[in-house]
Formats: sequence, structure tokens, C-alpha cells
Amino acid sequence: METESNLYKIPPDGEPITIKDGHYEVPCNPIIPFIEGDGTGPDIWKATQPVIDAAVKKAYGGKRKIAWMEVFAGEKANNLLSNWLPQQTLDTIEKYHIAIKGPLTTPVSGGFRSLNVSIRQKLDLYACVRPVRYFKGVPSPVCKPHLVDMVVFRENTEDVYAGIEWPAGSQESSRIIEFINREFDCSIRTDSGIGIKPISVTATQRLVRQAIRYAVENGKKSVTLVHKGNIMKFTEGAFRDWGYQVAKEEFGDVTVTEKDLWNEYKGQLPEGKILINDRIADAMFQQILIRPDEYSVLAMPNLNGDYMSDALVAQVGGLGLGPGANIGDTTAVFEATHGTAPKYANMDKVNPGSLILSGALMLDYMGWREASKMIVDALQKTILAKTVTYDLERQMDGATLLKCSQFGQEIVKNMI
Ligand code: NAP
Repeated sequence: METESNLYKIPPDGEPITIKDGHYEVPCNPIIPFIEGDGTGPDIWKATQPVIDAAVKKAYGGKRKIAWMEVFAGEKANNLLSNWLPQQTLDTIEKYHIAIKGPLTTPVSGGFRSLNVSIRQKLDLYACVRPVRYFKGVPSPVCKPHLVDMVVFRENTEDVYAGIEWPAGSQESSRIIEFINREFDCSIRTDSGIGIKPISVTATQRLVRQAIRYAVENGKKSVTLVHKGNIMKFTEGAFRDWGYQVAKEEFGDVTVTEKDLWNEYKGQLPEGKILINDRIADAMFQQILIRPDEYSVLAMPNLNGDYMSDALVAQVGGLGLGPGANIGDTTAVFEATHGTAPKYANMDKVNPGSLILSGALMLDYMGWREASKMIVDALQKTILAKTVTYDLERQMDGATLLKCSQFGQEIVKNMI
């Protein structure tokens, strides 16, 4: 059996990212922990790391370089250390602030609901951030996929996903139903399962704050609060109200509400301002299909965010090219948005695009925007040349089928 001290090797040529006055200070040689992932994880990581390294080298003429540090989770951690999620992995990610990971298997036993959920909870990565944009040439089920360019901020810690629920007929649900019916004069059927939907000011406001800050820093035109507040007034409706409150109290100088837009600015958003509006979730599903170009940053509770981000990704051609990140106040973990696709493990076959784009997102987050753009542009060029992995090749006429690693190499070749 390996020991943790043998396995967790701090790269001698790297320095830690630090935080000063609430901002990351990124050295030229930052230590970035990575988790390879399970199933196809090692394949896509092997294709991704050279792409990130090549972009950084090219963009900064060799003056910047990531010092990668492997940390362990999932099957590899279990094989080496008999632990699916070693504390040292969490501590290392927390210490170095920014990390990247491949997909992880959810162990069937072992007491975890999901390793991904555990990582998010233990590091308090409260915002799930999913930028969704179209890459020309990718087969899409809609007519104008190029109009989609949105970033979803999904609350990660509460809502019906908090896991507070009891099955119908259990002692717990029976007690709760009896209590609510008696004390609050309600009439919940006694054979109901019960789930609790907590939505707090704290979790809502830190999420919306992060979404607005992102819009400010990235020159985005609007932040839309997506909720079902017409029906669930004190959870989803409160999410909307607390979101507007953050916008007004903390970003009043840069945000304009829809009402102000029409009353004071004749419908024309003033230069440098961000429109803050809200939409009811069901209507928003129509909006993303019929008027996607009117939306930019979306902030929403957990369940809405889960549905909405997958619907948006489908519009631009599916999960293979969707980057993602889970971001807290002092820690961010970037990750592929698909699962481990175990049937393709070690076949060097699947599309590494999601992890590569998560890497580009990470570089953006570190302020290394030139390198990030280089990756995105080269990936676009690679797809336009129809040199793609099986998932895209099977949908494109005249495409050349590449292995996972070859797709990464092609992206590097296409960097200019
Ligand atoms: P999945 O691994 O995402 O695979 C489902 C299907 O999606 C694959 O069979 C494949 O479709 C396609 N696919 C996935 N990744 C792809 C890629 N990189 N390139 C091209 N196509 C890709 O979902 P799953 O089979 O439901 O889950 C497997 C395991 O992953 C489970 O243990 C689950 O818990 C875990 N999981 C982890 C994460 C995470 O770590 N964030 C997320 C979701 C699931 P075709 O066969 O049709 O080509």
C-alpha cells in the first residue's frame, strides 16, 4: 500500500496561488492540483494537459508555466490508499485554491452519495458555473445555435437537492405530515414522501453576488434571475427578491433593472451598465430557444440550474463540449461536465473537449486570458476542419475520425 506522503508530491518548480484582498495572486509558475478521474478520465486528462501547457507556453513565450500536482480521488485513490476521497486531496485543493478534475465514479458503497457532491460540499464550492456557447460546425438540433452564449450560475448547496427527504410511510415522513397537518391546518396526504426545499438569503446572495461580479469582470450585458416564484413564493420568489437586493445594495452603480431601463433609459442599456432582470423558469425554457441572444448570465436555484444547463448544452450540440466549474469564495475546481463513460475507458476514444474547455475556463479565471482564447480558437478551428472524435464524426458528413489524444494534438497544431 502506498502512503500519502509518497503520492502527494509538491512540484519543486511551482509556487502557490495566494489570495490578497479577496483576489487571487497567480505567480508565473502556479501549482495546480489535478485529479485524473475514473473511466475515460485518464484518457481525456492525457489529451488535455498538453493542450493547456502548449497554450500557456505559446501565449507567454515560456514565461509562464503550470506546475501540475496530482491529487487522488475515486477509483485510483481507493486502489492506492483504500480511500475514495482522501482528506489530503481536499486539503491540497484548498491550499492551492484552483484545481481541475476529470469525471469520478460514484461508488456504489462506501457511504458517499457522490464524490463530486462530496467535493463540492466539503470545499463549499457553492456555485456551479457552466458557460454554454456554440462552436461552428457542431451538429445541433436547433436552427440558430450560434445565438447561444450564456453562463449559468447554479446554486450548489441547497434547494430540494440538499438531500433532506424521507420516503412515504416512513416514521419520519409520518411525523412531519402529522405535525404540519395539525399545527398549520394543512392536508398533506398521509401516504406522501416528504422532501424539504430550503432556500436561504445567505446561499442566494453569495451566488447572485458571484454571478454579477462575473458579469462586471467579463463585460456581460445582463444577469437574469431564473425562478418559479409565482408558485413557490418563499423559496423561489425569495431567491428573486434577495437577488435584486444584492444587485441594488452592492452593485447599484452598475446595475439597471428592467423597470429603470424603460422608465429612465427608453429601453437602451447605458454603456457600462448591466441589466438585472428575472424570468419565471418555464418561460425561460422558451426564451432560451426562441430569443437566446437576449440573455447572457443566468443565476438560479439548484433544480432550475440542473435542468436549464443541460437544456442549453443540448442546444449547442451536447455534453462533449460543455465546460464546467464549481466555485466558492477561495477555491475553484474546474471539471468535465460529462461522466466517466466507463465503456470507453482506456480506448483513447472519447471527446476530451469538455475537459479542455474547462481548462480554458480555468485559465480565464486565473487571468491568463490570452492562453484561454488560444485554446478556444484552436478548438474551433479543429472542429471546422472536421477532424473530430467519434461522437462528432458520426454526425458530420466527410469528417476525419480522430482518437482522443489525436484530437488534443490537432488542437495544439491549430494554435496560432
Ligand atoms: P456518462 O459517463 O456521461 O456517459 C453517458 C454517455 O455520454 C456515453 O455513453 C457517451 O455516449 C456520452 N459521453 C460521455 N462522455 C463523453 C465524451 N467525453 N465524449 C463523447 N461522448 C461522451 O454518464 P453515465 O454513464 O450515466 O455515468 C457514468 C459514471 O459517471 C457514473 O458513475 C456517474 O456517477 C459518473 N458521473 C460523474 C460525473 C462527474 O464526475 N462530474 C458526472 C456525471 C456522471 P455514447 O455511448 O452514445 O457515445
